[in-house]
Amino acid sequence: MNNADNPAGAGGQSEVGAAAVLRADVTLPASADLVILGGGIMGLWAAVKAERLGIRTVLVDSGKLGRGTSGGLLGALMPHMPDKWNDKKQFQFDALLSLEDEVSQIEAQTGLSCGYRRTGRLIPLPKPHLRAIALRHFEDAATHWDQGGRRFHWHVADQTPHPGWPDASFCEAGIVHDTFAAKVSPRKLTETLAASLNAGRHVTVVEGLAASRIDGAAGRVQFADGTSIAFGTCIVSAGHGAFPLIEALSDPLRQPIGQPVKGQAALLRAGADPDLPLLYLNGLYLVPHDNGDVALGSTSEETFDEPFSTDQQLEDLVERARALVPSLANAPVVERWAGLRPKAIDRDPMVGPHPDHANVIALTGGFKVSFGVAHLLAEAALDAVSGRILPVPASFLLENHLSVASR
Ligand SMILES: Cc1cc2nc3c(=O)[nH]c(=O)nc-3n(C[C@H](O)[C@H](O)[C@H](O)COP(=O)(O)OP(=O)(O)OC[C@H]3O[C@@H](n4cnc5c(N)ncnc54)[C@H](O)[C@@H]3O)c2cc1C
Repeated sequence: MNNADNPAGAGGQSEVGAAAVLRADVTLPASADLVILGGGIMGLWAAVKAERLGIRTVLVDSGKLGRGTSGGLLGALMPHMPDKWNDKKQFQFDALLSLEDEVSQIEAQTGLSCGYRRTGRLIPLPKPHLRAIALRHFEDAATHWDQGGRRFHWHVADQTPHPGWPDASFCEAGIVHDTFAAKVSPRKLTETLAASLNAGRHVTVVEGLAASRIDGAAGRVQFADGTSIAFGTCIVSAGHGAFPLIEALSDPLRQPIGQPVKGQAALLRAGADPDLPLLYLNGLYLVPHDNGDVALGSTSEETFDEPFSTDQQLEDLVERARALVPSLANAPVVERWAGLRPKAIDRDPMVGPHPDHANVIALTGGFKVSFGVAHLLAEAALDAVSGRILPVPASFLLENHLSVASR
């Protein structure tokens, strides 16, 4: 099934009012201090932060804001494991923590809800050896998830605190309750960010215009329709579409700097309690949303013929979800959806100035965790606009990804 064929699919966004808040200023200005290419979760946060800084900005999207990969169903905000702590885990921890206030701020500004809740996550332990590992993680969380006056846990219990979520048969060796994980509605969050731009004065939004080339030396973006815009700085946040735009700025590289990885997800009309924790088992995520629908996913496909179609792999995930939570047995599937995650060559997010063109800044590569980190990465991209040192792990820098791709 194709997203476009599914009446409850891409078009389902109108249910939550996307069309009402998106703006298309049809005329492309001749120049802007900052041009942002791509208005998914990355580009939208960058635009919101540019608006707050009063930077004269044009945000251009080849389609519509928030309708690329960021227009999906899940919105799981899952922390990395609390063991083997490093600068990447610290960055994600800080991001997941600060997102709470970021969401409150944007909700207060717009009067809209992003469907955010820190409900935690349950991870059933079907085999005894997993319990020993989980108990070690309990200690790790006690050390690393206790910061800035906030403390989160990796509890190990014998049974689920929410009977049936999941079925007891999956908890032979117990269950983990991580109290740090959270969730957000991807569509509501992107709509809220777009709505906040609507209320601002500094960001002009142009939709339906695809960038075809960035000329770093001239400070100009060319578009597929022959138009162009001059920029002081350009943030490239076009999801997987950012990779070829950035690659073209360098001499030919040995490998692409990133690739799209397809994922499929589904939405069940379940009438579930939205305060239930997320549920995770062996790559299957279940995310209960505010209206009682349960999103589930995701496949991870490096090769695919049809990027936006769903297939038997998704049906298998739906069956796994129904086995994990038998009360979902009769919940109808109301949407099937597929999208392309931006995965950078070194797997980490990709942010920062191009080494040969400091006026071109990457902001992509969030792969499976974009929603939890995009606001902090966007802040780092704006630090780069001001020529400041980026407060991100070195492996995130565009420079690092380019160097890996040139080996
Ligand atoms: C099935 C699935 C489940 C997922 N679940 C989660 C999850 O639970 N939690 C999580 O954090 N992440 C999840 N992800 C990953 C997350 O959705 C992505 O990492 C994120 O949406 C990427 O955001 P982005 O802004 O980089 O790209 P996008 O959302 O794709 O935005 C890029 C924008 O750029 C525009 N564009 C592209 N090319 C051009 C061009 N040439 N010129 C101008 N504009 C252009 C596009 O139209 C698009 O609007 C999931 C992904 C999938 C597929």
